[in-house]
Amino acid sequence: MATSSGQAASLLSILNLCSAGDSFISTPSIYGGTINLFGFTLKKLGIECIFVDQEASEEEIQAAFKPNTKAVFGETLANPALTVFDIEKFAKIAHKNGVPLIVDNTFATPVLCRPIEWGADVVVHSTSKYMDGHALQVGGMIVDAGKFDYANGKFPDFSEPDESYHGTVYTRDYPDCPYIIKARMQLMRDFGCYPAAHSSFLLNLGLETLAVRMKQYCANAMEVAAFLSKSDKIESITYPGLTGDRCHDLARKYLPDGTSGVISFVIRGGRKNAVRFMDRLELASNEVHVADIRTCVLHPASSTHRQLTDEQLVAAGINGGMIRFSVGLENVGDIIADIEKGLNAAE
Ligand SMILES: *Cc1c(COP(=O)(O)O)cnc(C)c1O
Repeated sequence: MATSSGQAASLLSILNLCSAGDSFISTPSIYGGTINLFGFTLKKLGIECIFVDQEASEEEIQAAFKPNTKAVFGETLANPALTVFDIEKFAKIAHKNGVPLIVDNTFATPVLCRPIEWGADVVVHSTSKYMDGHALQVGGMIVDAGKFDYANGKFPDFSEPDESYHGTVYTRDYPDCPYIIKARMQLMRDFGCYPAAHSSFLLNLGLETLAVRMKQYCANAMEVAAFLSKSDKIESITYPGLTGDRCHDLARKYLPDGTSGVISFVIRGGRKNAVRFMDRLELASNEVHVADIRTCVLHPASSTHRQLTDEQLVAAGINGGMIRFSVGLENVGDIIADIEKGLNAAE
């Protein structure tokens, strides 16, 4: 089911399972907007999100379940932490507790990872990123694997008559995909967060080249990451495609064809040198958007997080020298030359 934004997809994916008084489990290694939605806004609607570290043991994750827990949520390749979610581990625990696993697959896209094949029951996407690729539309997607048994007794909204829809019983009347039919008939009807027709047209153009674009983002980013990891101006780099990255083993399992175009790194010398780097770039555009055909770059400390002092940034897990670099489809030699100029401007 296509939605008006990625946020709408994530919101509906939870509301389709949880009502006031219910809870669900999510890792905190997810997109910042989703953290706010889960931790603050859904809480006001009476839905509790229990955050569990994605590196927690099976016992620790199990301990977070309550009788009212209705779902588990994670992000394949987290924006912006670039951690890799262990889909199989979380699917196993979710299913043992009789609830579905929802995976946000925005950064990986179905070209690099197909979460349903690893046990996910629902996949959500922000199509505003790689799927569109050209920054032309904002949109989202919810995919129902059609495998989960919603008649297991935990989900009466699926297995008992829906008064708002002529007494439809979703698991009885739509046994192949009750999840997405209920999302469409109830939530989309009532909330109306559907995509504009013209946005769908633009998204479709992007999807037609997704497979070839993803291959090239990965190839370009791998070269950029290799260049950065050899530079003495760089303190650290996060890119799961690199051997030595702390998520490299998970990346080899879930993302064997590449780990997208997004890299994060910390420049030596902190905020001052990061600003010099940013100011010197010519090819890369300085913007919050990410996962685009054009290389774009963000310095959180002087943009999205600029209200924070250096001490507050550290507390929020953001280094003043940290840069999020979204490698585009330009000639990779040109991209690296641009980065080199930026690094030379750093002291
Ligand atoms: C951008 C993003 C979203 C939100 O998508 P919008 O289309 O901007 O609402 C959700 N998840 C991830 C991983 C994202 O990168």
